Amino acid sequence: MKITEIFASREVTVSLELFPPKPGAGFGNMKKIVAECAALSPSFISVTCGAGGGGSQNTLDVVREVQASGVVGLEHLVAMGLTREELLRGLDELRTHGIVNIMALRGDFPPGVSENTGDFRYASDLIVEIKAQGDFCVGGACYPEGHPEAETAQRDIENLKIKVAAGCEFLTTQMFFDNNILYNFMYRFLKSGIDVPIIAGIMPVTNAAQIDRIFKLSGAPVPPRFKAIVDRFSDNPKAMRQAGIAYATEQIIDLIANGVNNIHIYTMNKPGIAGSIMGNLSEIFK
Ligand code: FAD
Repeated sequence: MKITEIFASREVTVSLELFPPKPGAGFGNMKKIVAECAALSPSFISVTCGAGGGGSQNTLDVVREVQASGVVGLEHLVAMGLTREELLRGLDELRTHGIVNIMALRGDFPPGVSENTGDFRYASDLIVEIKAQGDFCVGGACYPEGHPEAETAQRDIENLKIKVAAGCEFLTTQMFFDNNILYNFMYRFLKSGIDVPIIAGIMPVTNAAQIDRIFKLSGAPVPPRFKAIVDRFSDNPKAMRQAGIAYATEQIIDLIANGVNNIHIYTMNKPGIAGSIMGNLSEIFK
């Protein structure tokens, strides 16, 4: 099933995200993680991909596991270093395994690199080629605070228009911790005439070790309310976990109350945390 069909058939959707094992690391407890996520009955599960070459075999294997568990899978595909030949081979594999949903991304520049040496400079270039190759449902990324390389937030929106014109059918946001940042983005986004569904990316921050890394990675400022939680609870792991779950739960309730109906939980391979959030929202996600 295409993800666009899921959006058309449900008022509220909730999706989860997993990352695959590192190349050569074996499948580890991935089967168990997928089974636990599938038991939560998410709308779909996406699987991230490392940059370089033909993508990751492990991403494909995890998406296959997701689909075997009865949940729609979304395969991330990264343009960084990717040749057209590698892409065509990768798309053939997806077809073989009945995977129709692709999240098309440029990928980050590795340290010391400032140019994409692959055949597709931007995510939009990758999307054009994927759409030319078959009936795939393709999504892309967007950044409520503007992508770090964009000259201005408005220019970033103009680039999103190019991405949508290329065939991008939905956009998942980078994580954000203050809903007002998303509402401000959505105002500019809708004013620009882009009309594809937006999926709000929510990252539950539940342990102190994650905090610095996540805020650095996302480029998102730490909202004072969240900082107060971290200051008070970060040295008490159980309390921090509970507070992080409550914070994410409140963010989602506020989003849905304000009409942002598609929620993506950055699950970080922790089905227990996703399960607690979804349990808190069981009537809302019905
Ligand atoms: P693009 O859309 O190509 O944009 C990159 C920059 O170029 C932006 O500044 C944009 O404004 C600009 N730009 C775009 N088009 C044009 C144009 N035509 N002309 C001029 N400028 C342009 N990374 C991974 O490696 N693996 C993953 O699985 C992964 N999953 C992700 C999932 C989500 C939901 C998000 C938000 C990010 C994910 N990333 C992943 C990170 C992503 O690869 C990086 O953020 C990367 O820096 C940008 O990727 P993009 O697809 O948004 O790039």
